[in-house]
Amino acid sequence: MGVTLDVGIIGGGIQGVAVAQAAAAAGHTVAVWEQAAIASGTSSRSSKLIHGGLRYLETGQFSLVRKSLAERSLLLKNAPGLVRPVPFYIPVYPATQRRPWQVRFGLSLYALLGKLQPYTGFKKISSHYLAEKDGLITTDLQGLYQYWDAQTDDAALTRAVMQSAKSLGAEVYCPARVGGVKYLDNVYEVTVELEAQTSRFACKALVNAAGPWVNQVLNLIEPMSATLDIDLVQGTHIIVDDDAPSGIYYVEAPQDRRAVFIMPWQGKTMVGTTEHRYMGTDPAAVQPRQDEIEYLLQVYHQYFPQRRGKLIDAFAGLRVLLHQDNNFFKRPRDTFIHSDPSLPGLLTLYGGKLTGYRATAEEVMQRLDSVLPEKMKKADTRSLELT
Ligand SMILES: Cc1cc2nc3c(=O)[nH]c(=O)nc-3n(C[C@H](O)[C@H](O)[C@H](O)COP(=O)(O)OP(=O)(O)OC[C@H]3O[C@@H](n4cnc5c(N)ncnc54)[C@H](O)[C@@H]3O)c2cc1C
Repeated sequence: MGVTLDVGIIGGGIQGVAVAQAAAAAGHTVAVWEQAAIASGTSSRSSKLIHGGLRYLETGQFSLVRKSLAERSLLLKNAPGLVRPVPFYIPVYPATQRRPWQVRFGLSLYALLGKLQPYTGFKKISSHYLAEKDGLITTDLQGLYQYWDAQTDDAALTRAVMQSAKSLGAEVYCPARVGGVKYLDNVYEVTVELEAQTSRFACKALVNAAGPWVNQVLNLIEPMSATLDIDLVQGTHIIVDDDAPSGIYYVEAPQDRRAVFIMPWQGKTMVGTTEHRYMGTDPAAVQPRQDEIEYLLQVYHQYFPQRRGKLIDAFAGLRVLLHQDNNFFKRPRDTFIHSDPSLPGLLTLYGGKLTGYRATAEEVMQRLDSVLPEKMKKADTRSLELT
């Protein structure tokens, strides 16, 4: 079986490559196994926002917002070619659920949680320029607020973190599907299908970063570990053949008052997202549904009636949310790091945000500390540049 690695990671999405980066930066030997392609799962199908998550203030997720805003600052500094600040616009009309004072209150809290750093301020702006430039409907408009968040290319960011991990010594195997795991004598033996052959690896710690496949991967492990009850929630985006708007519009869907973003994306306009329970068994088979496409087109036409809205593409991704008997909006969005006392050194990542990947990876490494040997630190992920 060869040498025993310090850390093995199942899944080459943002969370898997981030743990690889943090482990390699801490001086550990590490390998990532990805069954399809790097970022081929949820990490290429997000809204592509590096944000604190203004709307999570409504569900009291203050620590998630604070952490995400701090990570946003680091990314703006360390990855300026991949993460760029973008103005966000919130229009308020008589039917908008959140009143102007509530928007101002939320944005003030957002600025405070961001410690009033650059790109945390907000202001009320005149609607005329935007109406003319982007075609925003101004009938009955009661106020238009502008604040800042950031946008990225999620797949490119994931690949950049992977490159950073590799440059620190991490090994990345792809395509490489983990087909079995046995825990024996404090070591995890991992069976990996590498192209036509089967290989075996050994590692002291194992991280399950399989995204929507999380429980399928947990079920591969012997002896069996408890899985958590989850819902896979599908989110769809559409891309329409209209020029990119001058910023990101944060609007309320008239149908159900959900928050929807209308964003610039590669010179065109992207609209998203939806939330529907995914009933399929294969996460790779998720596809945009016709009713989701129609819902998003209706939202777009409601706010930008003069735009054509000719559909050119649509894509869907899956969120992992811990099962609760309430609606998806109210569920915690931070990563839940699950461990099982009978399997020391195994950590399983449920859910989470693209934005908080680095902080989550550092927390994972802290929790693995007791099973890993002491090593000489090579780098600090807070200052590693990403290109
Ligand atoms: C619609 C939508 C919009 C979102 N928007 C945002 C946003 O704007 N900002 C933000 O911060 N977050 C956002 N998120 C959340 C964010 O995208 C995810 O939290 C993140 O991408 C999850 O990454 P991951 O690495 O956990 O999972 P994934 O990216 O899904 O990676 C898991 C990987 O594991 C691999 N794998 C599975 N089983 C095996 C196996 N047996 N062997 C080897 N490999 C395996 C898969 O192929 C896959 O590549 C959004 C999520 C959704 C669904």
